[in-house]
Amino acid sequence: MNLHEYQGKELLSSFGVRIQRGIVAQNADEAVTAAKKLTEDTGTGWHVIKAQVHAGGRGKGGGVKLAKNLDEVKSIANDIIGMDLVTPQTSAEGKRVHQVLVAEDVYYPGDSEPEEYYMSVLLNRGTGRNMIMYSTEGGMDIETVAEETPHLIFTEEIDPATGILPFQARKVAFNLGLSGAAFKDMTKFVTSLYTAYVKSDSSLFEINPVLKTSDDKIMAVDAKVTLDANALYRHKDLAELRDKREESPIEVEAGELGLNYVDLDGNVGCMVNGAGLAMATMDLIKQAGGEPANFLDVGGTADAKRVEAAFRIILKDPAVKAILINIFGGIVRCDRVAQGVVDAYKNMGDAINVPIIVRLQGTNADIAKELIDSSGLDVMSATEFQEAADKVQAVLA
Ligand code: GDP
Ligand code: MN
Repeated sequence: MNLHEYQGKELLSSFGVRIQRGIVAQNADEAVTAAKKLTEDTGTGWHVIKAQVHAGGRGKGGGVKLAKNLDEVKSIANDIIGMDLVTPQTSAEGKRVHQVLVAEDVYYPGDSEPEEYYMSVLLNRGTGRNMIMYSTEGGMDIETVAEETPHLIFTEEIDPATGILPFQARKVAFNLGLSGAAFKDMTKFVTSLYTAYVKSDSSLFEINPVLKTSDDKIMAVDAKVTLDANALYRHKDLAELRDKREESPIEVEAGELGLNYVDLDGNVGCMVNGAGLAMATMDLIKQAGGEPANFLDVGGTADAKRVEAAFRIILKDPAVKAILINIFGGIVRCDRVAQGVVDAYKNMGDAINVPIIVRLQGTNADIAKELIDSSGLDVMSATEFQEAADKVQAVLA
């Protein structure tokens, strides 16, 4: 589950990570009030107005702007709230901005130049350990840095038994070229950042940029936080931070029906029991020359009610031109699933307007095939995986 920047920063701050301070605002008047409050608290005269959407690259898309007085705060907030922000990470239509973060300007002049770094915390799946990835090249796409100057990206793996050790925090500060007060502050920053990552059961922290201010303070200017959805049951307070407006409406609806659904770009709708089989089914569709329109795991009990819910979700995607149902009857009997498909189909009447190919394999597969074939509905049956994929291609041709 992704958080907004302002929520991510609050989470970091609660673990002692220094952040660029800010207040979230839903409209231009609230933005002005927020700016006044920040001036009282921090002494800042300038503010940055930052669009709060679940997408990076907001700066490039015009979603992050500097305001030098309250009139500018008001007019910039007015412009950004309600806009459809297009960034390198959104679709061409962009994402609607509902709120902005009014933040203190932290790029103020001083004894030294402010400097930007990159830092993330994530799981290295190769070694099964968390790692801190960091670079002197902050503020730019880390993908570009990885491509053009990979030697400027460092990683530090953390032993889960000890957590981050002081020498590791010092190594990070050293590799970033820091000294004096900034060196010390960085060791504190990276240690509390790592602790926040573990304690919040996150799966990704990406702080780009981490800033060294002109008076040698280290702070998070941006925060991309992804929480592990499977661990939210033990973080009720964090679970409440979910903003459904940022998610695909079909995926939200599917989740409420207990279906595990991911929207994709193709035209073959998929209904499968089990996540592994669902992924294998998508591979098979691709091998046969098609493109899956979705990932959908209907779970173990594929009865008429669930099948019908799954049909309705799949058909919400206008790109779907055929549906492939792939069920393995292990605990669930194939004939019961076949009956579910037939019942759901009959219930839905004209709502089903694309051909359906069903492949049932396992317990009572022969009875299931007979049920489908004698139903008189526009449903084709198959027993082999390949046969099913070929039939899908045939109806699309
Ligand atoms: P992103 O574009 O979505 O990654 O959003 P960021 O939060 O990283 O902000 C984009 C850019 O805005 C940063 O790289 C900074 O250069 C700039 N920025 C952020 N905060 C400040 C600030 O306090 N003052 C100034 N002048 N620029 C800022
Ligand atoms: Mn950023």
